[in-house]
Amino acid sequence: MVNKIVRILIVIFLVMGIDGCKGLETSSQSSVEALTSTATRQGLINQTGSDQEPKPAIDSVLKEYREPWNKFSNSQNLSDLPDLPDLHMRQPIPILYYHSVMLEAENEVRMPPDQFEAQMNFLRDNGYQSITLNQLYRAFYQGASLPPKPFVITFDDGYLDNYTTAFPILRRDGFTATVFMVSSYIGGENFLSWPQLKELVANGWEIEGHTDTHPYLSKIDGISLLHELKSSKELLEHRLGKTVDFLAYPNGDFDSTVLQAVKDTGYLMAFTTERGWANPNSDAWQIQRIYCYANMGQNEFSRRLQNWNY
Ligand SMILES: [Zn+2]
Repeated sequence: MVNKIVRILIVIFLVMGIDGCKGLETSSQSSVEALTSTATRQGLINQTGSDQEPKPAIDSVLKEYREPWNKFSNSQNLSDLPDLPDLHMRQPIPILYYHSVMLEAENEVRMPPDQFEAQMNFLRDNGYQSITLNQLYRAFYQGASLPPKPFVITFDDGYLDNYTTAFPILRRDGFTATVFMVSSYIGGENFLSWPQLKELVANGWEIEGHTDTHPYLSKIDGISLLHELKSSKELLEHRLGKTVDFLAYPNGDFDSTVLQAVKDTGYLMAFTTERGWANPNSDAWQIQRIYCYANMGQNEFSRRLQNWNY
């Protein structure tokens, strides 16, 4: 009798024991699945291979790309988030700079009209397309696209012949330009007037800053420096109804104090008279340009368009 009871108890124990192991096994599997799921969510387990790999190359590109924005502490565009960069558009771009376009012997800053026209014909015939400084800025720092073979035409000071002589030539070729206008010269003899400036703007030109009186900015006191930068900017913006975001240094003169004042005044880029193409990797307030002078010759002109570091 006792043996029978013992056998029955053993059978019952074995049956319960097997079920118990099953229960434990199921529980263990659930726990593993839960842990795995949590680990995946936390990025501790790489289930999708290379998709989860960090991308240091892209990160460094984005960091470099966003760097100029970090400098724009006074920019009204600071809240604008840039689009992803098109790396092919972040190449150096030639910016030509002229002053006057008229014939005057022995004055190299006055480009004879026939030479100017030959230069524009060369650009047109070779497929170059003019862009504005705003387009250049957006390509350099916001990833905007540009046409093939882009270049920029700029005129310093605001001579009357920019309107009477250069404008018809450029319009014929479908080109636009930027005038860096000395604001106190507006309406003066041989300089552009407000109606002419407005007509240029209406035809896609940009009128940008070149100070109020064209001083050597590193040689004047701080109050005068801010006045030169600010009053000219505000006057042009008020009368032309467009923001003035860019500046050319009169006489190419600047130092660290001038640079800081230019940033503080809200200019997004500034242009020097240093030789070279505009480079997206250089300081946005020390952009280089190509000097175009009388009698430079077609070979020298085209040579400067072949190489960003000519
Ligand atoms: Zn000038």
